[in-house]
Amino acid sequence: MPKVFVIDIARCSGCYNCQLACKDENCFNDWMPYSRPQPAIGQFWCKVHEHPEGTIPKVKIHYVSQLCAHCDEPACREVCPTGAVKKREDGLVLIDPAVCSGCGACMDACPWDAIYKNEELGICQKCTGCAHLLDNGAKLPRCVEACPTDAMRFGEKEEFAEELKHAFVLHPEGGPNVYYLNMPGRFLAGTLYDAEEQEVLIGARVTCVGEGLALETVTDDFGDYWFRDLPDNGRFTVTAEMEGYRPLTFADVTTDVSRNLGDTPMEKL
Ligand code: SF4
Ligand code: SF4
Ligand code: SF4
Repeated sequence: MPKVFVIDIARCSGCYNCQLACKDENCFNDWMPYSRPQPAIGQFWCKVHEHPEGTIPKVKIHYVSQLCAHCDEPACREVCPTGAVKKREDGLVLIDPAVCSGCGACMDACPWDAIYKNEELGICQKCTGCAHLLDNGAKLPRCVEACPTDAMRFGEKEEFAEELKHAFVLHPEGGPNVYYLNMPGRFLAGTLYDAEEQEVLIGARVTCVGEGLALETVTDDFGDYWFRDLPDNGRFTVTAEMEGYRPLTFADVTTDVSRNLGDTPMEKL
């Protein structure tokens, strides 16, 4: 049974501890036969990506910590001409620094962009799953241990069976073993106000229809409405109604990105 990383986006605060812990563990440290030292700059075996969505003031940010997915059928292994890439019984995929020629074929093949070239040493490098620690009694890799919110977890695939039914992978090819929970979808949001009185409208009924969905909400105390977790690249019609006001329609709103539909005046009848 392979080991898996499970990363809950809803719990990630974007603190970057995982990225820093990986650097602390691997920069300047020679963990042969597992890995040679990671350079201080230019490589991120664990990298936190920031994803800002929307426009001010309707902005949401989520963070995605990314590392080698220790694939079941690693593309990096398939293309390696020297046989340097090995998959262990526990599922971790390692590049043997003593065998790697630094040709870079694995870098081009990896769909996760997880491999880096160490120019000084003339080898390719990536996350080792902290195999040097696990083989010496540690229960967790450093990145997982350092996560203060338990957004990052690691263990036997079996342990996470239920959660993995709802998980998302960034690149399905090759059978990745890094899974994400609660990956947010796109959002549509906006604010409604009375055109004459220049006051926000509280309790206006707003609907969002399209892609088989028919969602409904009401504007809050700030006149705001939000539709969250919409599918990527969808097409929606957003309508706003309030007693005594002329209804409003936003037709053909696409969710190729999350959108702030802006501050919109509603006119009295
Ligand atoms: S994510 Fe990339 S480097 Fe990691 S095992 Fe898969 S193909 Fe290889
Ligand atoms: S498992 Fe170890 S090497 Fe891999 S990203 Fe985490 S800290 Fe870095
Ligand atoms: S350590 Fe945990 S909370 Fe912090 S950025 Fe990494 S995954 Fe997110």
